[in-house]
Amino acid sequence: MLSVSDAERLIFDAVRPLHPERNTEVVNLLDATGRILAASVSSKLDFPHWDNSAMDGYAVRFDDVKACSDSEPTILDVIEEIPAGTPPQKTLQPGQTARILTGSMMPEGADTVVMQENTRREGDSVAVLVPPEKPGQFVRRCGSFYQAGNPLIEGGVRLQAADIAVLAAAQATKVRVFRKPRVAILSTGSELVSPEDHLQPGQIVDSNQYALASFLAALGMEPLRVGIVEDNPETLKYSIAEALNWGDVVVSTGGVSVGDYDYIDRILEQLGGDLLVRSVAIKPGKPLTFAQFPKQRALYFGLPGNPVSALVSCWRFVKPALLKLAGLHRGWEPVFVNAKTRVELRSGGGRETYLWGQLLATETGLEFEIPGGSFSSGNLINLMQTNGCARLPVGTKRVEIGETVSVLWVDTPVSHLG
Ligand code: AMP
Ligand code: MG
Repeated sequence: MLSVSDAERLIFDAVRPLHPERNTEVVNLLDATGRILAASVSSKLDFPHWDNSAMDGYAVRFDDVKACSDSEPTILDVIEEIPAGTPPQKTLQPGQTARILTGSMMPEGADTVVMQENTRREGDSVAVLVPPEKPGQFVRRCGSFYQAGNPLIEGGVRLQAADIAVLAAAQATKVRVFRKPRVAILSTGSELVSPEDHLQPGQIVDSNQYALASFLAALGMEPLRVGIVEDNPETLKYSIAEALNWGDVVVSTGGVSVGDYDYIDRILEQLGGDLLVRSVAIKPGKPLTFAQFPKQRALYFGLPGNPVSALVSCWRFVKPALLKLAGLHRGWEPVFVNAKTRVELRSGGGRETYLWGQLLATETGLEFEIPGGSFSSGNLINLMQTNGCARLPVGTKRVEIGETVSVLWVDTPVSHLG
């Protein structure tokens, strides 16, 4: 049995990111949210494109107004008004100013903007009452944020609203992103039926198929639901072989323990798999199979059938592996945050233990709470609304109320006041 850190290293090292030349597609910018940019993008435009005003006020020559004061204001002639979207028509001469609005182009001859709160308008002239602190004040210089030709946004980042805004401003209306990794999902077990089927005694609903489809889609993968496969070596072998041909990754649940009907590991070996992980000293989720298939260029995760164990294994191992595969350059690793526990946490101490619950964002920092009701890996109901899993290392049997615990980040903490 491998330690969690050894298993993690074997898994993450085996993952090769999608090749940035062979595995990309071009999408419309509005469809690119959440996608991973394949290569860096640069712009032919400087940002800002031209010198412009950061304030509503007056464009001036610094030398004209540097000595003014409330008692001895500088009076300037207002020679034009420069609304947004209209280039200035005139060049400022000494003693002149132009009315300017935020974002408007600076006129020739002006080097500074005085904010309108520091002026008093008097017909066609304006009195400047407070001198600017320095030349260039409130002017956004052409190219001061970004100079044309440099990399604007690097490849390997996941595009979010702010990135989409920058690409739109750079007029990159189409972008090259990594294709979504194909992940085939199989549920193994002769006891399983689909949610829409009539349940017979002894049967259970295949919730894992739905859990995985939802988890993978939210992660930006292309899931393929292969369906339920009974515990029959021939059927399993056929379905797994097909799944490996289609997918970059295959994720199955069930059939990886030591029961009489647990065939997965043997079948993976027969299909040419290189089994790197067979079980991990983790709770929940000890039976975990990870294999690589060099011929099919595919990876295989065999997760425990228990629905709680399956999802916790996904959060701990599958998610980082898939994000690395998907082309994310940085930040694909699991995220752990410190939180103060609101309840006493317990573990057997023999295996690295993950206790699912809620990360709460309070005014004084993150806190962690586990759900009420029966806390058992057999109780799927209890897993609802999980956004973090407290990690108790091997040897830690108790964490007292108020102590700090390391929590695996699953989702955004919920806001919690008081
Ligand atoms: P296994 O890992 O195959 O021994 O399954 C462990 C437990 O998880 C058994 O109680 C199964 O009935 C249950 N289980 C297995 N697969 C699924 C599934 N796809 N959806 C819900 N429960 C499952
Ligand atoms: Mg089973």
